[in-house]
Amino acid sequence: MNVDVAKNLKEVLGNLPEGVSLVAISKFHPLEYLEAAYAAGQRIFGESHEQELRVKVPALPQDIVWHFIGHLQTNKVKYIAPYISMIEAVDSFKLLKEIDKQAARCGRVIDVLLELHIAEEATKYGLSLDACRELLREGEWRALEHVRICGLMMMASNTDDESQVAAEMNEAADFFDEVKRDYFADADYFCHRSWGMSQDYQIAVKCRSNMVRVGTFIFGPRVY
Ligand SMILES: *Cc1c(COP(=O)(O)O)cnc(C)c1O
Repeated sequence: MNVDVAKNLKEVLGNLPEGVSLVAISKFHPLEYLEAAYAAGQRIFGESHEQELRVKVPALPQDIVWHFIGHLQTNKVKYIAPYISMIEAVDSFKLLKEIDKQAARCGRVIDVLLELHIAEEATKYGLSLDACRELLREGEWRALEHVRICGLMMMASNTDDESQVAAEMNEAADFFDEVKRDYFADADYFCHRSWGMSQDYQIAVKCRSNMVRVGTFIFGPRVY
């Protein structure tokens, strides 16, 4: 292992204000990298492929909190439902319903975030603000007893223009306030604002993120 995971982790944590949690994004990295982060105290890990989780979860300590961060196909939900702590990128009612169904089969309630599409890139997943408003207004989600909508997640545009990144994140933060006020005012669990990655997590924490998802900075470049 030629990456000093413990040192990188410490540096990221040192840049996070109190109340901001770190999801260590370990996709495509081997077990020894995750073990190094775990040994340094990290407990929340994010992965984006069910097949990879299938190998990593049984091989690592039981007290790890796993987040699913990528695009999730509905036919994969059943495999992760028994253990996943949070599914961060829910962008359709269909997916929400499938998570509810599989969580019910496991006798669990699964925490989820709704993924917003605010960035300029056309290829990214996520709900437009209007689509997200529509999903919430329509109200069918209220009947799903095995999912808990705990906040919002987004990816800013992949650009060096920091003012654009900040504008997108601030838009997400304002939208969080709107959704909180309109639907979750009394729900303490609706509190997560997940934005910020290796390139932009320091901007994110200035734009009210309280959950950053950092991979490359901690583990080095991914080998696909
Ligand atoms: C891969 C990924 C990250 C981490 O990206 P880095 O640039 O490696 O920090 C964060 N969020 C999502 C949704 C990802 O897919």
